Amino acid sequence: MVSKRCYELGTARSVIRELFEYGNRRAGEVGPERVYDFSLGNPSVPPPRPVLEELERLLREEDPLTLHSYTTSTGDRAVRTRLAAGLAARFGHPYRPDDLYLTAGAAAALCCVFHALTQRPGDEFVVFAPYFPEYKVFIEGAGAVPVILPPRVPDFQIDLDALERAIGPRTQGVLINSPNNPAGVVYTPQTLRGLAQVLARKAEELGHPIYLISDEPYREIVYDGAVTPWVPDFYPDTLVCYSWSKSLSLPGERIGYVLVGERVTDGEAVLAAVGGAGRTLGYVNAPALFQRLCAACDGLTADLSVYAENRRLLTAGLGELGFDVSIPPAGTFYYFLPTLEPDDAAFCDRAKAMDLLLVPGSGFGAPGYARLSFCVPTQRVQGALEVFARLARSYGR
Ligand code: PLP
Repeated sequence: MVSKRCYELGTARSVIRELFEYGNRRAGEVGPERVYDFSLGNPSVPPPRPVLEELERLLREEDPLTLHSYTTSTGDRAVRTRLAAGLAARFGHPYRPDDLYLTAGAAAALCCVFHALTQRPGDEFVVFAPYFPEYKVFIEGAGAVPVILPPRVPDFQIDLDALERAIGPRTQGVLINSPNNPAGVVYTPQTLRGLAQVLARKAEELGHPIYLISDEPYREIVYDGAVTPWVPDFYPDTLVCYSWSKSLSLPGERIGYVLVGERVTDGEAVLAAVGGAGRTLGYVNAPALFQRLCAACDGLTADLSVYAENRRLLTAGLGELGFDVSIPPAGTFYYFLPTLEPDDAAFCDRAKAMDLLLVPGSGFGAPGYARLSFCVPTQRVQGALEVFARLARSYGR
């Protein structure tokens, strides 16, 4: 016999994956240029040139025995030293190498944090919809409970009153993701100030810290000159989970970190527990080659101009067709479109019948929306606008 939970997770249909595979099958039948697949959040631009050059250099010049060997379980010390110095210079906090724990992507960073902070089964983490669906899996996997708050429409900032009501004695942490998958929202300084005030007040009231877990794999993917606010500036008890999956287009290489800064309450214990969680989960020693690569290239980004152009085309084109694009994504490469009928699954099914593949918002906890991943070739966006026109006409627009 096997674990029921693991079996169910292993056999569950992922709506996004199913859609993607359907798209591949349809591409085989009608030709790839006729299928407008916007299902997956897989970066569509290659890693930047300096990343590829550094990779070649590492392989050519470094001693292969050292390069590929185990590192310290928290991550190679020279790598953490370089990263901490870079983060300190960028964000103005005195980060130290021992504030970092290198992980296999943001997913592993989050899993380590949820395990580290869960003291008793049934401890709670607050999550704001719309949210990345794997959060539920990660939190439940740690034996904790996700307390999911409904989306604040239409701007997807935080409903602070709802948050205040949701925090109780079992709350160990609050999870945010800004820039947000799927909503594209970037929390404003005003939102973060309000959030910090609520958390500080509640932590005081409850007599234990409430950690803010900031999942930020899209940190650098922002538009119109925007800058993602640095969350630890607002709330000292912030644990930053980051990866280079999206910023450097390296999702398959599985590399990221947890940062527990100097001002975090019981920070040393938190980071030790993150390391312990890494042991429990078998995650020790993030991929060694990519530790070195990312330390050298941290702060660079892939060519984001493709996403910016796709976003511009979609905003203009969908707006002309009568879709509500009044709040374009401030960051990420996702458009979260209000659907033309309340049933988002029916809307996406109708689009699918036209070979336009969108993901229903219900799966992200926000019915009445569809997610469109615009990390695709610009040609696909241009072609899709004709299909969107047909779709809109089918609703009498
Ligand atoms: N968090 C969010 C919001 C994501 O969208 C993703 C991946 O799509 C992850 C975490 C996981 O990132 P990684 O590939 O670095 O594990």
